[in-house]
Amino acid sequence: MKIIDLRSDTVTRPTPAMRAAMADAPVGDDVYGEDPTVNRLEALGAEMLGTEAALFAASGTQTNLLALLSHCGRGDEYIAGQTAHCYRYEGGGAAVLGGIQPQPLDFEPDGTLDLAKVARAIKPTDPHFARTRLLCLENTTAGAVLPLDYLGRAAAFARERELALHLDGARIFNAAVKLGVDVREISRHFDTVSVCLSKGLGAPVGSLLCGSRQLIGTARRWRKVLGGGMRQAGSLAAAGIVALTSHVTRLAEDHANARLLAEGLASIPGVAIDPAEVQTNMVFVSLAPDAADRLVPFLREREILISGRESIRLVTHLDVTAADIERTVAAFREFFAHA
Ligand SMILES: *Cc1c(COP(=O)(O)O)cnc(C)c1O
Repeated sequence: MKIIDLRSDTVTRPTPAMRAAMADAPVGDDVYGEDPTVNRLEALGAEMLGTEAALFAASGTQTNLLALLSHCGRGDEYIAGQTAHCYRYEGGGAAVLGGIQPQPLDFEPDGTLDLAKVARAIKPTDPHFARTRLLCLENTTAGAVLPLDYLGRAAAFARERELALHLDGARIFNAAVKLGVDVREISRHFDTVSVCLSKGLGAPVGSLLCGSRQLIGTARRWRKVLGGGMRQAGSLAAAGIVALTSHVTRLAEDHANARLLAEGLASIPGVAIDPAEVQTNMVFVSLAPDAADRLVPFLREREILISGRESIRLVTHLDVTAADIERTVAAFREFFAHA
């Protein structure tokens, strides 16, 4: 039986077209700027996001860190969501490696940061305080799409308060597809945008940092400092090109499958879920802790992988079909019939 892996959209395997592109990719030494496939991917990313330049890096953790290091120096501060990836899930990299202090704030229920609360968190110019330099947003965040008018307000706010604005756009294309807009309608508000190629877009490895020529030049230097210069990386970049050219519009299928999953689960007594809350490729299910502890192994026996406890996150992606969703809903139904 096929294993259905709903733990994350990072679990996708490269498609045959990706593997062929990887095998055929012309390569060179990217640290010398001579890998034609990396150069093509970076040009494509910059073109799609509407920025002057882009930089290919090993992971989204690295592109977020490169952005933080490029915007902030030692003793500077960035403001981010309490549960933002670039604050909570990156090992404190900005503080560890950059001497950059985080100022986390709670996300609002819609995934935005309240700009009035951000304003209150900005430190006065005074030797007692770190220098607040950067505001970081995340889109999508927990599957939620930030409203376009909010992005405009955040950008105006950042300009007025002389903050740089970074977007952790690990899933920016999920947001654009959901809104039905060109991704530039999102990216144009930010100084830098990090984009994951290895999530729903299906590449095996890699992220892009997009921004001005100057900021990306600074980030390129930091990438080398971090040991992230990758030499004949064109073999990896080739998969990223396929991801950007072939796998963007199909994200709508993942969103439809997530909605299908939510609707199926909502029909099962014992599962607390509101399908209307599902915006993109993530479904969150609340369970009693004892049920969660039994559900995970129950599904694993049926070749369905999920993670989480009281709040379980189910993520749809390239390797999950509508038939897989039906099998998953049936397994949940079987579990709750005997729970
Ligand atoms: C996955 C993810 C990243 C980067 O993760 P890597 O595993 O380092 O590529 C960054 N931000 C968000 C919101 C993510 O979901």
